[in-house]
Amino acid sequence: MNRNETPEDRAFRAEVRDWLETHLSGDFAHARGLGGPGREHEAHQERLAWERHMARAGWTCVGWPKEFGGRGATLEQQVIFNEEYALADAPARVNHIGENLLGPTVIAFGTGEQRARFLPPIVAVEELWCQGYSEPDAGSDLANVQTRAVLEDGRWRIDGQKVWTSLATEADWCFAVCRTEPGSSRHRGLSYLLVPMKQDGVEVRPIVQPTGTSEFNEVFFDGARTGAANIVGAPGEGWKIAMATLGFERGVATLGQQVGFRRELEGVIDLARRTGAIDDPLLRDRLTRSWMGLEVMRLNAVRTMAGVAGGAPGPESSISKLVWGTWHRELGELAMDVLGAAGLVAAAEPYDIDDWQRLFLFSRSDTIYAGSNEIQRNIISERVLGLPREARP
Ligand SMILES: Cc1cc2nc3c(=O)[nH]c(=O)nc-3n(C[C@H](O)[C@H](O)[C@H](O)COP(=O)(O)OP(=O)(O)OC[C@H]3O[C@@H](n4cnc5c(N)ncnc54)[C@H](O)[C@@H]3O)c2cc1C
Repeated sequence: MNRNETPEDRAFRAEVRDWLETHLSGDFAHARGLGGPGREHEAHQERLAWERHMARAGWTCVGWPKEFGGRGATLEQQVIFNEEYALADAPARVNHIGENLLGPTVIAFGTGEQRARFLPPIVAVEELWCQGYSEPDAGSDLANVQTRAVLEDGRWRIDGQKVWTSLATEADWCFAVCRTEPGSSRHRGLSYLLVPMKQDGVEVRPIVQPTGTSEFNEVFFDGARTGAANIVGAPGEGWKIAMATLGFERGVATLGQQVGFRRELEGVIDLARRTGAIDDPLLRDRLTRSWMGLEVMRLNAVRTMAGVAGGAPGPESSISKLVWGTWHRELGELAMDVLGAAGLVAAAEPYDIDDWQRLFLFSRSDTIYAGSNEIQRNIISERVLGLPREARP
């Protein structure tokens, strides 16, 4: 915050703060703090209503160009927006995937018709999205995608299985990486298709996670259909488009998350004061390191932002992903160590884990999704530092 903000930025911050303060009241007062990692199902309808309320006032997709329904906010203003959003304890967003992943991809690579068809319902929060990349044998090795799509009677017919698909139960559409050239292998012959989820050929099976909730799912395509024009890029260009989406996911999509992290860290410090754990020199040292790690993360985010201004993030976005994922997972471990034996007891009612336990359990996934730590290190070493490539089959 306060990174040499211009007068315009300060005015923008005040505008966002005022709007949130005014509107997170009355019917929406109870929406504060709803949702978040490990609590994705919480009050979905209320959060949807809140996000549509934001949309009507022009506060969704703030970073998109105005011609596509956004506000044309600068990168700095997008950070400000996300910081103020977190400071207001506003509810977790329901259309993060549409707004931050699919939307920017369609803006960058979509046709005029696709922009006209798909962007307005994202801005209005009328259509929610999920990301169909991973498969049972294609996670880190995404190029091994086996889900097939063929043009049949003027439409794509899709058969195969995706897995770990976040929020698929709520999604209206999925952007799916599919193999469209029979006999092709690896990065070649893949396409990036936009597939409606609410149809007979799509089955979603929730996967229960350690938190007891099902943020992600298995998705089975069994003769699912989508229009021939619902392909971003040309047939066979799916890898390029999929990587661009990942760049958005690892980069700009995480703007402003430090405010939420800071609140969590302050909570852990407060917990340590209450339990007396703060008197343990080793825990105090880890709390201090955590605080410093957050500062490093913030400075790194500012540096990364300066590098991506005006364009799609490059491989450097992997640095941010590696840093924040690791920091947040360690914060979850620290919270458990601060709690001590109490961390082993499900103390929330009715016999449920509490927010600290939820943080610990969910943050195990931070170093896996959007590309595991090992994969981020590979990207940084090969594509940022120019070190020799790892051996590949
Ligand atoms: C909470 C959560 C939400 C998710 N949401 C989605 C979603 O919405 N859509 C979607 O498509 N996917 C989603 N994923 C899937 C995620 O992208 C994959 O889990 C991730 O890419 C890792 O793939 P994998 O699980 O198949 O593990 P694997 O690829 O099998 O990896 C297993 C281990 O081997 C390591 N490893 C693999 N290859 C290498 C290598 N070349 N060098 C060094 N180490 C390696 C990995 O780092 C990991 O530790 C989600 C995952 C989680 C945890």
